[in-house]
This record gives sequence, structure tokens and C-alpha cells, in this order.
Amino acid sequence: MTIADQIQQVRVNIAEFCDQFDRKPQDVKLLAVSKTHPSQFIREAYASGITQFGESYAQEAVEKVAQCQDLAITWHFIGPIQSNKTKLIAENFDWVQSVERLKILERLNAQRPKNLAPINICIQVNMFNEAQKQGVTLELLPELLKKCEQSNNLRLRGLMVIPPKQASFTEQKQQFDKICGIFDQLKQEFPQMDTLSMGMSNDLQAAIASGSNMVRIGTAIFGQRGKNHQ
Ligand SMILES: *Cc1c(COP(=O)(O)O)cnc(C)c1O
Repeated sequence: MTIADQIQQVRVNIAEFCDQFDRKPQDVKLLAVSKTHPSQFIREAYASGITQFGESYAQEAVEKVAQCQDLAITWHFIGPIQSNKTKLIAENFDWVQSVERLKILERLNAQRPKNLAPINICIQVNMFNEAQKQGVTLELLPELLKKCEQSNNLRLRGLMVIPPKQASFTEQKQQFDKICGIFDQLKQEFPQMDTLSMGMSNDLQAAIASGSNMVRIGTAIFGQRGKNHQ
């Protein structure tokens, strides 16, 4: 299958799941995760109407941003962020979804070039306290949200979550429902939050069932990544 075919299939799936769970397809944004794949793949996806792309490795991503300068792409950074990469990210990305520490927020705010719009920010949440997973704990989350709200060069958009892998729809949905509950609760204090970024190739249906409004799809669009780059 070509990238165009795979995108078509993902769109059909999103539409079916929206239908199944009484949601509107236009309320579920599709982010194509192009990490590890060449810019030629991005061009193919763009030709099929995809304009939002997610990248996880700063150096690699910045090269692709440069190679795709002629395309009207909205770039999302979704990978772990080291302090020494914040400048590259602040200069090249429209969204950063993987913020999990105050220091990173402060650096992104300070390093965003003044001629660019504020960076759209999602805070990555670790809901399930897994030691090895990225994300801020629920206890520290409000402090990060407040800091983001107060930063002139950042715009708070919402939350991003990668829950632990589960095999069944029911288990996946339980986790997503929990996240959705917390998102709705936090929106009372931070009403500007409009983005709940959750759902990947293997848990798309459950994410849509629970209320995700941005899904991040890599494998189902571009195929398998190399073994060293999961
Ligand atoms: C790689 C990645 C994805 C895409 O995962 P697939 O299973 O390939 O769809 C989504 N979100 C994040 C944060 C990722 O790192």
C-alpha cells in the first residue's frame, strides 16, 4: 500500500469510529508522525492533504523542517526534550506536546524568536506513575499549566498522554477515560485548553471513544520504523 492508501484507510477508520461513538470527524485532528522517515514520505503525505506532522528527535526533525520549507506544514514536537535542544525546538516548531518540566517551559519561552507566534503547548502527563514513562505527575501538573499560561511566548493548548500499552479495547478505553476526566476537570481552571492529544496506531478506536481530539498516527500511515527507533 502507498502512503496515500494508508492515509485514506486511517481517515476511513476515524470516520467509522466517530460514527460509532457519536462524534464528529472534524473534531478529531490527524497528526502524522513522521519520525525516522525521510522528507520524501512527508511530501507524499502532504500531497494527500496532511498538513500536521509530528517529530520526536530534534536534530533529525530540524533537517526535515528545512527540506520541507516550501510546504505549509504545522510542525509538532512530540519526543523527549533535553535542555540543550530547546533552542532548536523553539526556533522550528509550531507546537510542543512533550513538555514535562518547568525548566523546559522556561527555556522554550525565553528562546522563542520574537518574530514568531507563541508556541502551542501541550503538557505531557504521566497518569499511571510508571517509572520509565515520560510525563509530569498529576501532583505537579497544575504548576506547569499555570507557568505556561503566564508565559508570553507560549500558548497553553492542552494535554498529551501516552498510556501504557494494553491489548484490549476495554483496557485502553479505561485509561483514556481517566485522562479525559482529568482534562475536563482542569478545563474549569484553564478554559483555554482545547486539545486532548491521545491515541496512536494501535489504540485509535479507544481514544476516539473516550473523547480524544488529536490522534498521533505513525505506523498506520508510514509503516514500521527501524528497530532502534520505536
Ligand atoms: C511514535 C509516536 C507516535 C506514533 O506511534 P504509532 O504507534 O507509530 O502510531 C505517537 N505519539 C508519540 C509521542 C510518538 O512518539
